Amino acid sequence: MRHPRAHTWQAVAGIAAAGAALAGLRTAAGRPVSSAPTLAAAGAGLAAGGLMVYEWLSPRSWLYGPVFWHARTQERMVALTFDDGPCHPYTGQLLEILDREGVKATFFQIGNNVRREPNLAAEVASQHVVGNHTFDHPHLVWSRTGTVREQLQRAQEAIHDATGTIPHLFRVPHGSYGPQVISAAEELGFRCVGWSVMAWDWDRPPWQVIERRILHGLRPGGVSLLHDGQDTDAFPKADRSHTIAAVPHIISSLKASGYGFLTLPELMDLDARDGQP
Ligand SMILES: [Zn+2]
Repeated sequence: MRHPRAHTWQAVAGIAAAGAALAGLRTAAGRPVSSAPTLAAAGAGLAAGGLMVYEWLSPRSWLYGPVFWHARTQERMVALTFDDGPCHPYTGQLLEILDREGVKATFFQIGNNVRREPNLAAEVASQHVVGNHTFDHPHLVWSRTGTVREQLQRAQEAIHDATGTIPHLFRVPHGSYGPQVISAAEELGFRCVGWSVMAWDWDRPPWQVIERRILHGLRPGGVSLLHDGQDTDAFPKADRSHTIAAVPHIISSLKASGYGFLTLPELMDLDARDGQP
């Protein structure tokens, strides 16, 4: 298995193991647990181990490979992203809002939902950027590479069959990028994507709360995460009415603050241009 940052995270793993081992050896040799070198070794081991776990579970992982979650820029540009669709009637309502506002967005579609609503998926792809969000939205955090690969390939086939497009972006369901997820996605030619702000909109808070959370967290170069679908559920079990109600307010507030809207590939270009030291 190839890891983009194998040397870095293996070094961190080394510190975690060495710190724990040294602290253990010193304690076993009869030195007091509270002695400074033992505490220092244990502390370094815990810190390195904690960093590894944090990075494994984070949507902004760096240690295990590149995950794009914001653009390094001062320009007032953001990317709106929507996950878990297509899902009738919400995705269609969202397309109307975005069209009316002249905003291009990025949709991470679930293969299973694309199979159910191929025409809706195609309509999204004809106007916006579509990314891969796996076939049936599993937790991949501890999955084997083969499972990750299969999920990506099945979704890719479904999206290609319905829309004729081939996604190059991938967002992991539930946001946890383990090293095996990143390496499997990269081997298949994907760029992994996270987000800089979300609104816990799956809990269906009032639209005002969704709007406030997004506006509060969004900065120049930011990536927002909202949902036009709900796992592999369909209407009426899936209810995204609060999210859809929030989107026009989010867009008009951002416009009033001087923000413009880019798709994720455009935001990545901006990052490549402005992010150089
Ligand atoms: Zn999702």
